[in-house]
Formats: sequence, C-alpha cells, structure tokens
Amino acid sequence: MSRVYNFSAGPSCLPESVLQEAAAEMLDYKGSGQSVMEMSHRSKNYEPIIQDAEARIRKLMNIPENYAVLFLQGGASTQFAMIPMNLKKLGKAAYIDTGIWSDKAIKEAKKYLTVDVVATSKDKGYSYIPEVQKIEGDYDYGYICLNNTIVGTKWANLPEMGKRSDGTDIPLVADASSCILSEPVDITKFGVFFAGAQKNLAPAGVTVVIIRKDLITEFPDPLTPTMLDYKTHADSDSMYNTPPCYTIYIMGKVLAWIEANGGAEGMLKRNKEKADLFYNYLDKSDFYRSPVAKDSRSLMNIPFVTQETDPDKVTALNKKFVAEAAAAGLVNLAGHRLVGGMRASIYNAMSLDGVKALIAFMDKFAAENK
Ligand SMILES: *Cc1c(COP(=O)(O)O)cnc(C)c1O
Repeated sequence: MSRVYNFSAGPSCLPESVLQEAAAEMLDYKGSGQSVMEMSHRSKNYEPIIQDAEARIRKLMNIPENYAVLFLQGGASTQFAMIPMNLKKLGKAAYIDTGIWSDKAIKEAKKYLTVDVVATSKDKGYSYIPEVQKIEGDYDYGYICLNNTIVGTKWANLPEMGKRSDGTDIPLVADASSCILSEPVDITKFGVFFAGAQKNLAPAGVTVVIIRKDLITEFPDPLTPTMLDYKTHADSDSMYNTPPCYTIYIMGKVLAWIEANGGAEGMLKRNKEKADLFYNYLDKSDFYRSPVAKDSRSLMNIPFVTQETDPDKVTALNKKFVAEAAAAGLVNLAGHRLVGGMRASIYNAMSLDGVKALIAFMDKFAAENK
C-alpha cells in the first residue's frame, strides 16, 4: 500500500504516526480489552483521554485558567449560532467579512442580533484582508475569521479592539478552524477562539471552543437549547452528554505529535518553510500565479491558478491538472467549487516532502502544457 499526499482542505491528512498508533490500539486500548470506540465516556479508561487532550491543548496554547476549553459537536458552523445566542446582551455585533465562512457567520448572527459589517474585502473577490479602523461602539463582540480556508488569506495583525460607551472592552471572537495551532497565538487577545478540528487537529466530529469564562453567562435567552448554552458544557467539563469520544482520542495523539515537533513554534517553523517554498515557486513561475495579496497570504491554504486567460481553456486546463496530479499521488487539489482554480491545503501534518513533490509535478505539468 502506498499513501498519497493529501492536500484536502478538510477533513485533511493526519500525521502517519498517529494513525499507526491508533491502529495498534484499535482492538485493545492499553490492556482494557476494548477499542476506544467502544468505551463508556464515563469509564476510568476514557476519562484520562479527554482530560489529557484538554491538558495538552492548554499547555500548547498557553491557555490561562480564566478560559474554559470546551469540546463540542455540530462543527464550527454551529458556533456561528452559539456565539450570538450566548454573547448577546446589547444586541449588536461587529463582523468583518473576509469570505464565505465569515459570510455564513454573518447570516447566522443576523437571526439573533444586529450585525454591523465594519469592513469587507468583497470588492476584490476576498483576495486580501481589509484595513480595519479600531472597532468601537456598543458591540457585544467583534468577529473575524482568522484564516480564510477557501480564498487563502489570513490575518497578519489582529484588528484593534476599542471600548464600549460604558468603558468596557469589546471581546474579539475568532474562527480559527483552519489555523489553530499552526503558529503561536496570544489567546488573551480573544474572548472566544474556536475551531472545527478536522483541519489541523483531528478527524471530523469535535469543535474546540476556547472561551473566556466571564463570557459564559448565567442565562442566555431562556429559549436557548440546553445543548447550545456554553454554560451547560463548561459546567460539565464537556461531558454533559456523550462527547465525540474517538475523535477526542485522536486529537490527543495529534496534540502529542505537535508537542513532540516543537509545539506551536515548531509548527510555525515547519509551516513557514513549506509555504515560503510554495509561494516563491508561484511568484517566480510564468505558468502559475497566486491570486492572493502578498501581505494577506495564508500559511495553510494556498489557492493558485494558471496564467491562462481564455475561460474555456482555463476550465479544461484546471481539470487536466487535478486529474493528472491525482494520478501522480497528489490528491484533492481542486479549488473550492465557489472560487475555481486549484488549492493546496498544507496543514501541520503535510510534510515538506509533500510540498516538494507537488512543486515537481507542477513544473512537469507546466513544461508539458505551455
Ligand atoms: C471548515 C471551516 C468551517 C466549517 O466547519 P464545520 O466543522 O464543517 O462546520 C468554518 N470555518 C472555517 C474557517 C473553516 O475552514
């Protein structure tokens, strides 16, 4: 069996050593005679697994005691509703529109409160991160998507958060689904920092929500479903109901792999090396190019297009690229269906060798299709 290089935007490749460990433990986890899939979540076998995952994420991200770490279900998309439901007090929030994921969050938030879109990069197809004036006013929170998976942009500098008219700080909420633990972050800059785990941390099924404890309110709207109330999960250490046990177990192993590879700093070094190599290649190429502004480029998701401009030829060429790449063991390189072109997602688990193999293929394809 040979494994492919998988450039999927998510679910995405996992470190091979993690898969091997999980395979070795599949039928009998540490002498328990059971698979982790089969265990009660309230058993003495399982409890250390979830506790260990939380401890590791706290250590790797330097999360202080005044933040809760929650393991929830419903994907990052459920957070689009949970955030306004739980944080609404004044009834207004500031959102920055940097693409499809922030747009979805905006649409959902509008069901619960007034949304001010204080900046957008829609004018140029979301190919850059917009300039933002200091966010000030009577907002319950400000909201950004930290890394824009589909268009390949990321926030290099966070927007400046100002105060409300009563002098209190406006918390910043960030969707970090496609960049969590890809580089160090100062978590104290955020009120809520959340991520669907299936890009950088685990298989699909768990969403990590890191939330400042003072934002977990006693009584959101009384009609808020119990499962959508942060307090429910914070009060029960993410064990109010059955958590996604196996996904959390794999996440613990991925976190251990990150730790063994230098933690968040180590990931940044690894990711920068891969991304620099790839962007340099695109910028020098007379066949391919990056559609993203240089100061806004993601380390994780790299869309690219050919320099062909005839629309009919572009479609055929992209199709040929994706098919031939797959045949060469480089899979999932089609761009998002809404933006077209190609996209290489090079999350933490993607190796430098994978990026080098992609570049070698691209060189050959360019020579054959000039
Ligand atoms: C993938 C992704 C989502 C959606 O995650 P689900 O877990 O599928 O709901 C949201 N935001 C960003 C930035 C993503 O990359």
